[in-house]
Amino acid sequence: MMNALLSLCLFGLIQFQLVAQVLPKPSYHSPLAIPLRLSANFGEIRPNHFHMGVDFKTNGIEGLSLFSIEDGYVSRIKTSPYGYGKVIYINHPNGITSVYAHCSSFEGKIDSLVRSVQFQQESSEIDVYFTPEDLKVTKGQRIARSGNTGSSTAPHLHFELRDTKTEEALNPLVFGFDIPDHKTPTLNSVKLYVVDENGYTIPGKSYSLPINQVGKSFVLSGGGFTLEADCCALNEFVGLALNGIDTYDGAQNHCGLYETTLLNAQNVVFGQQIDRISFDDSRYVNSHTDYEEYKTHKYKYHKAFRTKHNPLTIYNGKDLGLLGIMPGDSLSLSFQVKDTKENKANVQFFLRRKKGEIPSKKQVFTSSDYFFPDSSYSFSTELFHISSEPFTFYIPTKKNLSLARVYSFGDPQSPIQRPLSVKMKLNDPKSTNYYIQVTTRNGVKEALKPTVINGWIESTSLYLGTFSLVQDTQAPRITPLNFNPTQSNQSKKTLSFRISENGSGIKYYNAYVDGRWLPIEYESKGDYLLLDIPSECKGKRINLRVESTDYCSNIGVWEMIIEL
Ligand SMILES: [Zn+2]
Repeated sequence: MMNALLSLCLFGLIQFQLVAQVLPKPSYHSPLAIPLRLSANFGEIRPNHFHMGVDFKTNGIEGLSLFSIEDGYVSRIKTSPYGYGKVIYINHPNGITSVYAHCSSFEGKIDSLVRSVQFQQESSEIDVYFTPEDLKVTKGQRIARSGNTGSSTAPHLHFELRDTKTEEALNPLVFGFDIPDHKTPTLNSVKLYVVDENGYTIPGKSYSLPINQVGKSFVLSGGGFTLEADCCALNEFVGLALNGIDTYDGAQNHCGLYETTLLNAQNVVFGQQIDRISFDDSRYVNSHTDYEEYKTHKYKYHKAFRTKHNPLTIYNGKDLGLLGIMPGDSLSLSFQVKDTKENKANVQFFLRRKKGEIPSKKQVFTSSDYFFPDSSYSFSTELFHISSEPFTFYIPTKKNLSLARVYSFGDPQSPIQRPLSVKMKLNDPKSTNYYIQVTTRNGVKEALKPTVINGWIESTSLYLGTFSLVQDTQAPRITPLNFNPTQSNQSKKTLSFRISENGSGIKYYNAYVDGRWLPIEYESKGDYLLLDIPSECKGKRINLRVESTDYCSNIGVWEMIIEL
């Protein structure tokens, strides 16, 4: 007995050391020179993804110095009007990559390299990978300036740590950065779902109760859930979800929950701890959260159950978290929540089921009415083709299938994990300028990027809904914004242009001075273009040409001789 205990302890020690080796925690240099205050934490629920890093406040301004947190080398730089905007990746010898996004500019040698690649590729948008020898950096070296580029809506630093080998995003809050947090999480509501044996929620069978704060405690309204005897058929169970937020010192921003555990008496039913997320799985946030509650109310529920197909690695075990309760029974449940600094909150509640008969097995999802997660689908006519790969759907999803006159596929209110392949035949194979439009959730129309192949328009779609062919014959319109082209513009460092495009979307944008290509930035949030005037053009009359092509090959041009 003693031996067994001893070896258990030793085994525990060895395990602990292994974990410590896998996740090295050196003392990193801060990425900013100001105190680190969070406006968003790791794993927050966002549209179609988890937040894969943390957002540091930058005092509402751009241009703060960003520092490499450790020795290493620049492994990748990407510039884009969308997503991360201007972003720099640094690989460190300990197997961690640090990522700094939404930058306004890069520093010194890094900036020169970016510009030379832009000129070489004649494209303002670049995505370049570097070798360890190209651009070495030291701990604390200034690498870039903070900004608001890409899909950032206010100046901040989006900062990530990744496992260099697997590229999984890691939670920066467990890596020893100085981010004070003395605030406990706030719990807002609990929702109950009737689910089948696969973790699929049964339509129309969910109930939510608000949580009230009484002093420092959280109390579920009414104390808990009371279910009718016939609530669940023999093959149906109960799943629960918690909606709550966390906040950090020095900020009011609503951040996400880190660790959530559902207990039945003292036994763990289901738990999650958001430490690492693979980019391949990030879109499964649509399965993890209550998609409808998120889209309608911005409520961020964390389900304490999952479908059998959900591959996220944030859960503590293989169980689906489904609760069985017999008529006449009562369970004593609680949600326990903890942040990375051990600030805790919990809510206790009962789950009762009234006495009575259990309805016999039910088959709610029939293959005639629903698409299933583990199946692939393909439908073709002479004019239309649509197909989906396995694991496109998170749960059985209403078919809404129509393949004549109107072309529709799936319930437009439901999310999907993988893109559909859609093809529509052109009436006249010689006609040009067509793209496929999908009318999706709440009637919103989305343009799909077209490829024309043998008289067919081919696209992929991350939306379910109704598909139609739309013609786009209007080129993007470019007009001067901050200058008068008929006057001298000597005082200007940057020229800006309004760019408007209503059809298929902007594919390319370029600027030429006297026929020579120059980088021009597209600010997708405000639909404008920014051209930094090169110093060698100052005081000269130049021919300036700015052009943009949409996805239907319409080219819009603004061209004039102007004085700088
Ligand atoms: Zn962010």
